[in-house]
Parts: sequence; structure tokens; C-alpha cells
Amino acid sequence: MNAGLCWFRQDLRLADNEALEAAARSCKAVIPVYVWCPDDEGEWPPGAASRWWIHESLARLGHALHDKGSTLILRRGPAAEVLPALARETGATRLFYSGRHEPAALHTERAVVEALRRDGVESLRFQASMLVEPGSIHGRTGDNLQVFTPFLEAFLKQAEIRPPRPSPPQLPAPLHWPATEPLTALGLLPQIPWHTSLARHWQPGEQAARAQLKSFVAKGLANYDIHRDRPDLPGSSRLSAFLHHGELSARQVWRAAEQASLRSGHSREAFQRSKFIAELVWREYAAQQLLRHPLLPDRPRDARFERLAWRTDEAQLRHWQAGRTGFALVDAGMRELWQTGWMHNRVRMVTASFLVKNLLLRWQQGERWFWDTLVDADLASNALNWQWVAGSSPDAAPWFRIFNPDTQADRFDPEGDYRRRFVPEAGTLGYSRPLIELKTSRQRALDAFAALRGTP
Ligand code: FAD
Repeated sequence: MNAGLCWFRQDLRLADNEALEAAARSCKAVIPVYVWCPDDEGEWPPGAASRWWIHESLARLGHALHDKGSTLILRRGPAAEVLPALARETGATRLFYSGRHEPAALHTERAVVEALRRDGVESLRFQASMLVEPGSIHGRTGDNLQVFTPFLEAFLKQAEIRPPRPSPPQLPAPLHWPATEPLTALGLLPQIPWHTSLARHWQPGEQAARAQLKSFVAKGLANYDIHRDRPDLPGSSRLSAFLHHGELSARQVWRAAEQASLRSGHSREAFQRSKFIAELVWREYAAQQLLRHPLLPDRPRDARFERLAWRTDEAQLRHWQAGRTGFALVDAGMRELWQTGWMHNRVRMVTASFLVKNLLLRWQQGERWFWDTLVDADLASNALNWQWVAGSSPDAAPWFRIFNPDTQADRFDPEGDYRRRFVPEAGTLGYSRPLIELKTSRQRALDAFAALRGTP
């Protein structure tokens, strides 16, 4: 048997990585490769925070491969040119890779497979990111799975989630390694070193991912239902970035949570009906929606929303981005995002609602900002959730549900700890004046929506 290429994408780990495992099992030599090519991602190349994360994660993946006697080959794309060239250079006859579901990524992988096929190289596709292949969950009546609850029901009946697998014990090396670019040559880090603040909050990589999963399962899972909505508490898992970049598989998360839940006396049924599982399934639902509706990141699913009386106001947009709206919960969220590359889910909803409804600015502007600043920026989850907040997707918060940032703050940050952490000047004379008046901006949003009613 010959050499095989293992193409790493959003599966930056060794354990529970079927592509790598299959390559290790069936090839005389395995050549792990990562191709950096923002152009392969179409309109959505990784944002600045994601690029920092990928840089760090590749460094750690390189070390982990090195410990197995292997080497991570880094190349700059396009993948459809780089991979066939690498196959020719190394004599590889097969490519092993994990499939993705974003439109541009699917386009890229089809181009890669076709280019390799012309050279007589076979490609084998595996699933590493999701619990099930996006598109595989089906409803009885065609498209009723556009709404989350029927999707969840169908998912729990249809999904077969196999146990995660360990990392391959060894990776056979080729006699001669092909050349690799140094990691820094990929140019993933920004020129201005703002990412140093991200490094204070996160440690990317498979090892840190597993430590975070272990800690959440031991300390956070039991109280997840009660604490998950509280930004002032470490109540949620903080696994989203690890899941997005594939340092953890969703199957590993599912299995660890299941085992802990069964150990503490819950039934399998109760586990499957738990809030935590529902959140993991939201991720699957988002992926399936993006696969079925490739314009999800750009266009409202309900076309009427194109004609809403959106405003254009660069100054207000900048105030929102900088966390200077004069509403402490909104500002705390936006500063948490800027400083840490992450924002609590409850606050994501509040800040998004504020932009779309109180400021009446297009949801796509918020989506772009999150895309650039989140370490967990995920095309499907980001787009779906922005459309959920805007009210423009089939399963969405109704338009008239406009979060009041002050009452949300009282409810979910009752002692004010979260707001104090990020907006220490709130309540003093030095704090920004409110950008808008809540009552009138709410009414303006309701009127704008009412104008759409009855239009096709
Ligand atoms: P937990 O509460 O511990 O949930 C466990 C896992 O389930 C998460 O890690 C995540 O993978 C998944 N999950 C949880 N909630 C959702 C959800 N609503 N939709 C899809 N998956 C979910 N999540 C992203 O991963 N990337 C994004 O780009 C993203 N953009 C968002 C934009 C907006 C406007 C909103 C309202 C939400 C967005 N979310 C996004 C969903 C959610 O806020 C994050 O997944 C969550 O806050 C991550 O924290 P956690 O890992 O502690 O989540």
C-alpha cells in the first residue's frame, strides 16, 4: 500500500478523527497537511479572532503529530492546486479528509476531489465535526424540519451516535518528508498584536479542549439548566470554539456528558431530553439549515425582511461595536467579545436584539462583526442565530419580542457582577449616555415590522 495524504480542516485533533485513523490503518506512510487559503472560503474567510485561534491550534497539532513521529505539512492554497501537487511530490495515491458543510468549503472539496481524480488519486471523505452528516435528518412531511423542535424530535429518533475513538497509536512516516512552510509564514496573526488579550483567556488545542470538557462535565453539567443563562457565573461549557475548530468532536462531548449523566443516576431518556443536549442539537440544526439554504448568512430566509425600513448609521454601529451604547448589559457583552473573543449566549441575544431592533440596523452588520471577533465564529450557527434574533428565519424569535437590556440585566446578572467586570464606569458620570431611548426605539421597530405585515 502507498502513501496517503491526511488533509486537516476543521478537525484539528488526533483523537476521534476518522480520516486520520483510516489513513494510519491503511497507508504505508501518512502525510498530514493543512492548507491555508482564505480565498477557498468564498465571502467568509476566517475572521481575525479565528485566525489567531487557528494559528495556535496548528502549533499544538504540529507538536502532537511530532510526538507520534509525524510532521504537519503547512502549505498555502488553493487546496485544489496544492493537494494534487503534494500528491505528485510524495507519490500519495489517496486523500483522507473530513467533510464540511459550508457552501464554499463544499465547493473547494469537490474541486479537490475532481483534480485528484484526474491524477488517479482516490479521495475518502469522513465526518469529524458534527454528530451526524448535515442533511441526513429527515422529516415525515418534507420540510417541517425547518423548525427546531421537530428537528430535535427527528434527531433523537434517527441519529446514531457512535462512540468516539482514540487517537491512532502510531502514524507511519514517509522516507522523505516534503517541505513545509513555517507556521508564521501563513500570516495568520494580525500585524497589531491585539490578540495578546485573547491568549489570556483561551488556550487553543486538543489538550486544552479535553481539559475544558473534563472540567465542565465534573463541575458544570449538573447545574447547567439553572446556570446556563447567567453571564455572571461560569454556567455554560465554553466548548464552542473547540467544537468549531474540531479540537474536540461533538461525539466526544456527547459521550462525556452522557456518561456523567448516567453516573449521577439520570436515565438515558432524561439525558437526551436535557438542555445541554438540546444546545448541541441546535448546532446540528444550524448546519443542516445552512446546507439546505446556502444563502443563510447573507439573505433573510423571509424575503420580506429585505424591505424592512432598516437604517444606516455608521456612528451608532461603531458605538455598538465598541460597547459604548450607554446600556450596561449590551456594553458588557460587546466588551467581553472584544477582550476575550467570546460572549455569553444570553448576552449575544441581548446585544443582537439591541442592534437589530432598537437601532434598526441590518442583522448582517452584526453578523459580520461577530464573525470577525468571535473565536467560535461558525458560519452556520452565527447566521442562524442572527436570523433567529432578527425574526427572519422559519424558527425565530417573533419580531415583537424585543429584549429590554435593563430588565434582562436585572434578571440574569442580578448582583451586577458581570456588568461591573466589563463596564466598571457604569453608574458614574464618566459612563456613556444612552444612545437611544428604549421605549421610542421599541415602538419604531414595531411600526417598521407592522408595515411589512400582509406584504408577500
Ligand atoms: P453551551 O451553552 O455550553 O452549549 C454547548 C454547545 O452547544 C456550544 O459549545 C455550541 O457548540 C452549541 N450551541 C449552544 N447554543 C447554540 C445555539 N444557539 N446555536 C448553535 N449552537 C449552539 N455559536 C457558535 O458556536 N458560533 C457562532 O458564531 C455563534 N454565533 C451566535 C450569534 C448570535 C447572535 C447568537 C444569539 C448565538 C450565537 N451562537 C454561536 C450560539 C451560542 O451563543 C454559542 O454557541 C454559545 O454561547 C457558546 O458557549 P458555550 O460553549 O458555553 O455553550
